[in-house]
Amino acid sequence: MNYKQHFFRQLPAVDRILQEEKLLAIGEKVPRGFIVQAVQDVIAEKRSLISQANSEKELELINISSVALAEEALRKIEEESGNNLRRVFNATGVILHTNLGRSPLAAAALEAVRDVGGAYSNLELSLDSGRRSSRYDHVEDLLCRLTGAEAALVVNNNAGAVFLALNTLARGKDVVVSRGELVEIGGSFRLPEVMTSSGAALVEVGTTNRTYLKDYREAITDNTALLLKVHTSNYKITGFSAAVPSHSLVNLGREYGIPVMEDLGSGVLIDLSRYGLPYEPRVQDPVAAGVDLVTFSGDKLLGGPQAGLIIGKKVYLDKIKNNQLTRPLRIDKLTLAALEATLRLYLDEEKARRDIPILRMLTLPVEKLKTRAEMLSAKLEEKVAPFCQTGIAYEKARVGGGSLPQAFLLSCQLTLQCPGINAGKLAERLRRARPPVIVRVRKEKVLMDLRAISEEEDSLLLDTVARTLKDMEMDYNNNGGMLKK
Ligand SMILES: *Cc1c(COP(=O)(O)O)cnc(C)c1O
Repeated sequence: MNYKQHFFRQLPAVDRILQEEKLLAIGEKVPRGFIVQAVQDVIAEKRSLISQANSEKELELINISSVALAEEALRKIEEESGNNLRRVFNATGVILHTNLGRSPLAAAALEAVRDVGGAYSNLELSLDSGRRSSRYDHVEDLLCRLTGAEAALVVNNNAGAVFLALNTLARGKDVVVSRGELVEIGGSFRLPEVMTSSGAALVEVGTTNRTYLKDYREAITDNTALLLKVHTSNYKITGFSAAVPSHSLVNLGREYGIPVMEDLGSGVLIDLSRYGLPYEPRVQDPVAAGVDLVTFSGDKLLGGPQAGLIIGKKVYLDKIKNNQLTRPLRIDKLTLAALEATLRLYLDEEKARRDIPILRMLTLPVEKLKTRAEMLSAKLEEKVAPFCQTGIAYEKARVGGGSLPQAFLLSCQLTLQCPGINAGKLAERLRRARPPVIVRVRKEKVLMDLRAISEEEDSLLLDTVARTLKDMEMDYNNNGGMLKK
């Protein structure tokens, strides 16, 4: 163990490392405490590598020069500066990735956020009368025009929309819902629990795979306040199955004078089957079928900000608007600005398809991705060979975010392999990059799916990945083939 002692003693002192040019250069911008901490951390990492080394030869490969340590400290400082919540590259091939923030916003939406957020706005002031007005007015007409509904309200998110509607129309009463439609959404939130916490009692009818109109009919009592249909947005019951279509429920509701509500989950305004995707009910469909209330998300297939949209008959929306709980669930001005701008794009379907990132990603031909993957693969290989090798794969991408569960999109990935380095480790390094690159690992290869990455991001992606691999190579060489953390 003597040789280790020797090595420990050779580690440069903090003050010595602080004098390195690279660290002196950032002295003006970064508080001294941060720099000292980073240097101490790097020394601690080196100590741990020295302890782990199994032979003198391995030790020899650990670079403990003051310059090398300063460089590592600098990288650490760069990694730790900036906000916690930050943009990432979604190279997972899951377009509406809930953990990655679901939909990126259209340029027009971002512009609206900037405009309204950086100044005062007419959020609750009528510019016509000079009197107080409602924030909800800014999007109501637009939503009605796009969907054919009589009235509309927007709240914080769709779970909130469902909660608010049930609380308003069915508190202390019964809501009839099919057993086949009791959805659990991400993060183990169960819609039935959200629903019952509104004060409504769920009366479950039918079986998981089959529910008939007579099941709803038999469940109706004097205490029934609502018939509810939930779009099973994140799973599909196939095979021996039956569900009641919206218009039949509407007829039944009319017969008994009970309103019908449909939670669509993912709200889509355009017919996706025109672009080779499976048909997903459009928001306009239940409205046209006479459904009294329809709820959906702003940040799923709509491609806007997080929001819950409630559209439908005016009598019911008036009641909902008067519920005191709209206040704790209210939408904020930045979201409202982004939502209005997103909805405006839908006034021209072709414009929406082009300008809304989610729709563009969904409908992009795979050939375009292939061309980009080939270009990126060649350029990256040039920068990182022979340490790593690049390639191209053709795995499928998914819509995600509890939308279109059966849709698999043809896609294309840039692949990466660095001999001697575990692909999981490589994925971790990319996740820690600036900006982080979130990838998939498949058969000892890292896969970077291009479907959820825009063409404009390609050069930044290339630089980020190349820089990360270069850093990793440096680490690898400085530490005798061992990688820290
Ligand atoms: C996603 C989803 C919700 C929740 O919507 P959020 O906007 O995430 O609150 C509710 N119902 C269904 C059917 C969904 O798919």
